[in-house]
Amino acid sequence: MPQASINIDLDTLSEDIDKTTRVIRSDELRAITYCRVVPRFLELLERHSVKATFFVIGRDALDHGNVLTRIARAGHELANHTMTHPKQLVHLDDAAIEREIRECGDLLERLAGRPTAGFRAPGYTISQRVVAMLRREGYRYDSSLNTSLCYYAVKKVFKAVRLRDQDYLSTQRFTEIFGPRSPYRLSAERLGVRDDSQEFVEIPISIIPFISYPFVTSLLLHFGAAPSLKALRLLVARDTFVNCELHINEFTDRGDINGYDGSFYLTSQYVRIDLARRLSYFDRLIAAIKASCDVVLMRDVIA
Ligand SMILES: [Zn+2]
Repeated sequence: MPQASINIDLDTLSEDIDKTTRVIRSDELRAITYCRVVPRFLELLERHSVKATFFVIGRDALDHGNVLTRIARAGHELANHTMTHPKQLVHLDDAAIEREIRECGDLLERLAGRPTAGFRAPGYTISQRVVAMLRREGYRYDSSLNTSLCYYAVKKVFKAVRLRDQDYLSTQRFTEIFGPRSPYRLSAERLGVRDDSQEFVEIPISIIPFISYPFVTSLLLHFGAAPSLKALRLLVARDTFVNCELHINEFTDRGDINGYDGSFYLTSQYVRIDLARRLSYFDRLIAAIKASCDVVLMRDVIA
């Protein structure tokens, strides 16, 4: 039975982002995320008696530490998703990257009562420099490498065609997308390269065999449950680790964001699908993962 991890990025519901700092602005939306939307995900986990890893944005969590403490006490894992979710993380200078990692990590350590072990970069923008800093800060794993050729191509095209601010959306290096697709001990010199003498682990995003499409629910939800369950069977048949990545805005109801200003580009894609249908999708997916995999927290993944 392969190992699997159910993990969620607690990104904020709106992309109402300050142009200079790129910080998401609305306190109210953070409150909705933590008080209304996160409990839906927790109920799902409880229904299936599974534990999950939560990638938390430090600044969004500042006012909602009590929710996160309860999550950690229930046996889930809190992991670092940076302090302010800068999509241009890899372009920041060393001191700024260190602040992004350390401030969030310290906050989560206080809330969970244990050192923060894991990290995921916003938008999967990781670099050798960021990983070196994670090692220095005592982290045990990163889960940011996305080895999907489809995802890489789409991001490159989007960047070329749509974006004036080229630094905003970073893509990984082409060679890195040929890295291993199951957790591995990561070389100290190069991303995407295994080195069993190292302790630090990379837990890459799962990729569906044959089509090289990421096994990320936000990219699969729209097709209904059948393709996701088929993809899961393909991964399990190859005894491949299943990194089941979700995003909190997949649990938003239309009523949660009605009446708020701001750009809800991603969230509005999900609320078009009835919440009950989405919850039924997740029920089927998690039941299938539980039946065919050994579900562990990211910090307990064996590489
Ligand atoms: Zn994120």
